[in-house]
Amino acid sequence: MSNARYLTKSRYKLGIECPTKLFYTGKDAYPDQRQEDPFLEALAEGGYQVGELARQYYPGGISIETLDHGEAERMTQDLMQQGRVILYEPAFRHDNLFIRIDILVKEEQTLRLIEVKAKSYDTTGDKPFLTSRGRIASGWESYLHDVAFQKYVLERACPGHNVNAFLMMADRNALCPTDGLNQKFRIVRETKNRKGVRVSTTLTEEDLATRILVEVPVDDAVRLIHRQTYTMDGLGMSFAGLVDFLASHYERDLKITPEIGAKCSRCEFRCTPEQEAQGAISGFKECWKEVLGWNESDFAEPSILELWQFRMKNAFIRSGRLHLKDLNRGDLGRKACRGPGLSVSRRQWLQVEKVKNRDTSAFFDAPGMKAEMETWAFPLHFIDFETARVAIPFTRGRKPYEGIIFQFSHHVVQENGTVEHAGQYLNAIPGVFPNYATVRELKKQLEQDAGTIFRYATHENTYLLEVYRQLLDDPDPPEDRDALCEFIRSITCSDEWYGGRSMVDLLELVKSYYYAPATHGSNSIKKVLPALLNSSAYLKEKYSLPVYGAPDGIRSLNFTDWTWIRFGADGRVVDPYDLLPPVFDARDDAASELMSTEEELKEGGAAMTAYCRLQFSEMGDYERDKLEAALLKYCELDTLAMVMICQAWRESGG
Ligand code: SF4
Repeated sequence: MSNARYLTKSRYKLGIECPTKLFYTGKDAYPDQRQEDPFLEALAEGGYQVGELARQYYPGGISIETLDHGEAERMTQDLMQQGRVILYEPAFRHDNLFIRIDILVKEEQTLRLIEVKAKSYDTTGDKPFLTSRGRIASGWESYLHDVAFQKYVLERACPGHNVNAFLMMADRNALCPTDGLNQKFRIVRETKNRKGVRVSTTLTEEDLATRILVEVPVDDAVRLIHRQTYTMDGLGMSFAGLVDFLASHYERDLKITPEIGAKCSRCEFRCTPEQEAQGAISGFKECWKEVLGWNESDFAEPSILELWQFRMKNAFIRSGRLHLKDLNRGDLGRKACRGPGLSVSRRQWLQVEKVKNRDTSAFFDAPGMKAEMETWAFPLHFIDFETARVAIPFTRGRKPYEGIIFQFSHHVVQENGTVEHAGQYLNAIPGVFPNYATVRELKKQLEQDAGTIFRYATHENTYLLEVYRQLLDDPDPPEDRDALCEFIRSITCSDEWYGGRSMVDLLELVKSYYYAPATHGSNSIKKVLPALLNSSAYLKEKYSLPVYGAPDGIRSLNFTDWTWIRFGADGRVVDPYDLLPPVFDARDDAASELMSTEEELKEGGAAMTAYCRLQFSEMGDYERDKLEAALLKYCELDTLAMVMICQAWRESGG
């Protein structure tokens, strides 16, 4: 089966993101760092289940299964001869444009085009698609362009028909009618490369009686997209012109002249040094060389793309000031500092100054941090949550995409410096709504004393506030609802309260008091930790022996005699996340299917994917245990990373 170089909806969306990407996409020579695994992505977002539930709301449809473009198109054409028909995944082609539609309802000359999205939609508010100035709202652009492209192709492939377009999404306010609905949509492997959803034979009319997906008409927004003017390659063009421009370049494999900008910082067509050494080509470098005439030494210099929270990147790129070393203090503004710690512009200037001075040492405001530390109460508690949002709720009365806290890790540091992995919790039992049990366990672990609690970023606070709301809204609450609510209020902050033991955000402390050039302007804990490990003599000494999980060393719930500090061939400390042992034997077929999940565990969102896999895919006990063990290890490292950051600061005079 080989499919022609048609412009499909995903390529169209890639093209409007950046038209040059159409030249790089799908070519082995140009590595794609996004490495989106459509299966994992759909699994995490609930795409498979939402798609299948949508079909249940349109029963009796015919599914076009084949992935071959020509065959799918022929089958669709045959079925379209019927006056009334419902089709799942029908294929339509117009010249070099090709689409598969999630659900198509044909009633004589009227076609209902339904694009199903794993996204929540608030049915109580105004339609959010347009801004007050009548433009497409940026958060909806990608979804609406997707439908606009499909409607454009369908109207041309089926002249004489009236096409109405809809987005079908999860209704944020709908209440699930029954218990266990999400377990009735299980992910199964249909063929080697194809996954599907098996709908349980126990699915009842009652399960579908209250729709938790809503169909929203989008013809007005689509009309606006079709009437807008677009600029490509310096030329103004209509929507039809835009589609033709992208399609003809893609079909002939012609590169569209790059227009570089701030968007390039998120470009997925980059190489790792290893890939480059093996002959792969960086699409990013190719673009920047083409436009700017850059050579390798230019790429080695920190560029404006790295500058933290800088909103003028496009203006500076246009004026040709691309390297941090070329910036002056006046370029960054001088907003007065409110409160202790670095202001945004001061921190930006610090980043630039260190580049200008070729200074690779870290900045640390020891007196500022010391003042913060004096407000802390021992023992210190470090917590990290793993969370998910599940499209189809677990139980009756719950709403789509409610927040789920399925795991936490908890480290404790005593005043004398003793560290221990004091607790953890993981509840991935299929079909079980874990939130109340998770918070109950967290309460039990944290209420032993009144020590300061730390989180990294707002995530833990946000999810606890969501559980608080779930507890209050629950028509059948647990007996300890009041105690759980009181506990949540005590350790969180919101618009209405500031808890007496409100968690301290380590990320805010990083932003205020610490900057390491090795982080390249990122404050992600995954960047801050390696930078500190490489610069802190204290951490190097403390963790370079197999003390972690050793009988007389640091107590761990998941590691034994573990050494965190190991040095690579370049003499630098190896990223601790890269040290975690492989969970699955690569020779094991069933297990290797899970490898990509494990690989991604250290990145945000990957734990959520693993959780959805534990919930919704067919899995033996062996794989389940391995995956749960991997989740526990990675989460333990997340809180240990927070501990290490504080230890390094404390030893540096904080
Ligand atoms: S580097 Fe920039 S211009 Fe080139 S493909 Fe990536 S985003 Fe587009």
